[in-house]
Amino acid sequence: MSIKTIDTEEQASFAETALKLGGKSDDEARRTGAIDAADDQVERLFAPQYQTVNSPAHRAVWDRGVPVELFQSEPVATPPAVQAVMDASIAVVRRHRDAGTLHNSEAKIADQVLADLGASGYWGLLVDQEFGGAGTPFAAFAAFLTRMATVDPTIAGLASVHGCIGAVDPVRTFGNDEQRQRFLPGLASGERLSAFALTEPGAGSDLTALKTTAVRDGDHYIVNGEKLFITNVVPGRTIGLVCLIEGKPAVLVVELPREENEHFQLRKYGLYALKHTYNRGIVFRDFRVPAENLLSAPRGDGLTIAYHGLNLGRIALCANAAGTMRIMLAGMIPWANFRQTYGQPIARRELVRRRMGQLAGLITGCDALVAWCSTLIDRGYRGEMECIVAKIFGSEAQKHAAIELFMKTHGGRSFLHGHPFGDNVHEYLAPCIYEGEGEMLAMGFFKSLVKDHGKTFFEPIGKTLAAKGIKKPNPFNPAHAWALRGVVTPYIKWTAARRLTRTPRPALPPMPGALRQHAEFASSELQRMALEISGTMSKFQLALADR
Ligand SMILES: Cc1cc2nc3c(=O)[nH]c(=O)nc-3n(C[C@H](O)[C@H](O)[C@H](O)COP(=O)(O)OP(=O)(O)OC[C@H]3O[C@@H](n4cnc5c(N)ncnc54)[C@H](O)[C@@H]3O)c2cc1C
Repeated sequence: MSIKTIDTEEQASFAETALKLGGKSDDEARRTGAIDAADDQVERLFAPQYQTVNSPAHRAVWDRGVPVELFQSEPVATPPAVQAVMDASIAVVRRHRDAGTLHNSEAKIADQVLADLGASGYWGLLVDQEFGGAGTPFAAFAAFLTRMATVDPTIAGLASVHGCIGAVDPVRTFGNDEQRQRFLPGLASGERLSAFALTEPGAGSDLTALKTTAVRDGDHYIVNGEKLFITNVVPGRTIGLVCLIEGKPAVLVVELPREENEHFQLRKYGLYALKHTYNRGIVFRDFRVPAENLLSAPRGDGLTIAYHGLNLGRIALCANAAGTMRIMLAGMIPWANFRQTYGQPIARRELVRRRMGQLAGLITGCDALVAWCSTLIDRGYRGEMECIVAKIFGSEAQKHAAIELFMKTHGGRSFLHGHPFGDNVHEYLAPCIYEGEGEMLAMGFFKSLVKDHGKTFFEPIGKTLAAKGIKKPNPFNPAHAWALRGVVTPYIKWTAARRLTRTPRPALPPMPGALRQHAEFASSELQRMALEISGTMSKFQLALADR
């Protein structure tokens, strides 16, 4: 595992410094900066060569030359014992599907299916062998999720809820020996399935607005608050609960009672998406959790722990989209061959062929992103930017495929009861929202992309301007030029070097000519972006941090 345990001095985050320099109140700067600081803490958990500045997406823009080798994924190696677990799990789902026993009377995945999957080892795929799991490399797990999603996307999604964002990843990565010993065997066998409880009625995108608290009382924490939209939560689950302890985000592993009581209740509502799994609000009133269930990150706080699992969840989401879109394509091809208009199957029309080709392209794109990101994770990279790309691409591709390609090709029949489009339209759209709404994540991506450049070149300029009391710098004002000379020179040098030196050609591996042209185009655009992004930062300055 690549998690470092060395602690060093805490620093104000880039966003906090930028907002303060921009004249925001200390409180606003601190609240917004808290999210950025949590991100900084996650960063420092990784050895320097695996941090964001050394990740392929970052280097492709800011390095001189695209590091092509970091864009290549390795073939997935699945150990035979793990393959056996995967095959057995697929067989369980197929058997129940064929027997019509996949769902219970509420149309949710039936308990017997969850138990049979437990017996086959499904829930322990990501748990280490010493705790009864299969110890699956993440790349093999992610590729398998696509396969499972072609049989049942909900069951594939539950593996991610349990293994990535639920309790498995936080306990594996941040639990102490005693916590791993106590929780992982039950999570591996499926005796305790898990969920992830972060969102609250007043805190979704805005994680500084969390209100659920845990207050120490002897050898327990007393939890009060409300969670919303929690997937896979029913009584008896083990959840990773994000709450505030002494005002700071923390993660408690909470073993929910087998029945609701005065301290713990589930809030039920109708939800269109994820219709085959339970999704509930949770209300805690003076709910006691043993103090030894508190997870502790070597640096940072509970958001550090939450972000780690969310990263993996984003790859899993893309893998699920790749499987779900395969189901769409498998439905489109026979229909397009069968349906005739003007005396010809619609499959012969360029319009329809283009749709099928585009869908195949989106599937291939998702497969490639899943393989690339999960290879990076297995190599020890943080991979935050790459995982965001996978999440946004996977969810947007699935939405586009569902509406523009699948629905349109099936015409009016898409809306008949029993048609996969009409029956699943909310399933196709919801990934754009959960695990971080896509456009919000895109802003997070941009922040990660510009952070180092901003810290290196713009932060010193901002600090100098603030120290000298210069509100509007004017390069023709000799006093301003003199005040800034030391901090502006490195930026001028960087810009000049970037403009004046030739961009190295990417060292691409052998590939067909048409593909090579695409790869060369992508490389040169990524390299060109450095100056464009830097120019945007220079133009909008602190207003960028204020978005
Ligand atoms: C099917 C489903 C399953 C889910 N499962 C879980 C789960 O298991 N566990 C869990 O904890 N949560 C879960 N969620 C919650 C989900 O993660 C949140 O819905 C999501 O993070 C968005 O939060 P929100 O709905 O409160 O949107 P809001 O925070 O209200 O945001 C709405 C929109 O406002 C805009 N916006 C907000 N802030 C800004 C800003 N600063 N700048 C610009 N625009 C902004 C964005 O477009 C944003 O999408 C689930 C949700 C769904 C629908």
